[in-house]
Amino acid sequence: MTKPTATGLRRYPHTDGYFPDLSAAETAPDTALPCVCTDHCADRCAGECGCQACGTAFSEFCSEAGQFGADGHIVDEQRALAKYRNIGN
Ligand SMILES: [Zn+2]
Ligand SMILES: [Zn+2]
Repeated sequence: MTKPTATGLRRYPHTDGYFPDLSAAETAPDTALPCVCTDHCADRCAGECGCQACGTAFSEFCSEAGQFGADGHIVDEQRALAKYRNIGN
């Protein structure tokens, strides 16, 4: 099984480097989604490195931000990514 990287641990400190299991009442790690990011990843990695945890985080963001079209695909991925990375700025 894939283990989270050191960067993954920093990104998801409350869930041991895994993406949080959103179906759990308390914050629990979803062990199917380890963060495998490295120092080379963007601050808000959207899973480009193959990280399933950050890829899932990005999809969650897109669905909350209404970035998915009727066909289930992200309407404008570049725009969605820009929005994603600008949060808090
Ligand atoms: Zn990651
Ligand atoms: Zn990454």
